Amino acid sequence: MALDDVTRDELQGIIAQLKESLYNHQQWHGTLIRTLVCKLPGDKHDASDTAHMECRFGQWYYSKAPEKLRKHPGFIALGEEHERLHHMARLLLIAAGAGNPIAPLDYDNFANALERLRLEIFALERELENSLFNHDSLTGAITRYGILPTLREQQELVKRHAQLCYIAMMDLDNFKAVNDLHGHAAGDTVLAVSVRYLIKHLRPYDKVFRYGGEEFLLCMPYTELTSGHDRIRELNEGLAATEIDIGKEKPIRITASFGLALLDPDVPVEKSIDRADKALFAAKSAGRNCVQIWDPSM
Ligand code: GH3
Ligand code: MG
Ligand code: MG
Repeated sequence: MALDDVTRDELQGIIAQLKESLYNHQQWHGTLIRTLVCKLPGDKHDASDTAHMECRFGQWYYSKAPEKLRKHPGFIALGEEHERLHHMARLLLIAAGAGNPIAPLDYDNFANALERLRLEIFALERELENSLFNHDSLTGAITRYGILPTLREQQELVKRHAQLCYIAMMDLDNFKAVNDLHGHAAGDTVLAVSVRYLIKHLRPYDKVFRYGGEEFLLCMPYTELTSGHDRIRELNEGLAATEIDIGKEKPIRITASFGLALLDPDVPVEKSIDRADKALFAAKSAGRNCVQIWDPSM
């Protein structure tokens, strides 16, 4: 999902903005009702066709919100409800301004629009908060608590759709030496850059989990053995060729070892993880910086 690309800071900024927008719209709603009930002159902004772009939330939504969020279905739905709310408000203000009674249906639509906007805001906020909670703050990988539910879900899909899913265990090579030679902060940078590389070069529906310290589990649905092997080999080579800036005179490089295994529909998912781990061990034994595929002799 697109939210995987949004940084933690951006996520926190968006959540704060959503909370504020809900508060602002509740205040705005109260003022508008007061205007109508007391027959006061309405705010000219609210009568404009572009009122939804002029309110504070609209300014954020249409010009400042992060680009990466714009294709997210929850974000799009929120924009539609927000526009509808302002449209309903305009109808009420026009009727009141012309001295006409407000049709009960128009009023009900307006009240419903605020309720729906509130629901959309809560839904998006909840999703963003889950995303914050479920992602490792250093690397952006999904935390290990997500592994078993995700793999079990994938296993169900495999059983029903005759598509295959491959998983790979990845462990950085001689990573302890990076910490020892360059310090823990440099080690953190190497971890973060490596995972960013993986996420960037996998497909949007592949997933990267932090399994432990510098060990990651990759889940690749809709993957055959050959394509999965090719993809992991490309990651292996691409990562090894990546220069990592650790703030010293020279950038450094890191390699990783990978163990690839089928997410077998006929055995518990833990067993498939174990097979990927055995294949990883074989890759380490074979000299590191390579990919091994699990086979029953391992
Ligand atoms: P191998 O090629 O056999 O995997 O060797 P290695 O040095 O990578 O493996 P080892 O398991 O001996 O060391 C892993 C190191 O990763 C030890 C630990 O301190 C470090 N590490 C784990 N998590 C983090 C982290 O979040 N940040 C940093 N900087 N280091 C970490
Ligand atoms: Mg290691
Ligand atoms: Mg390790």
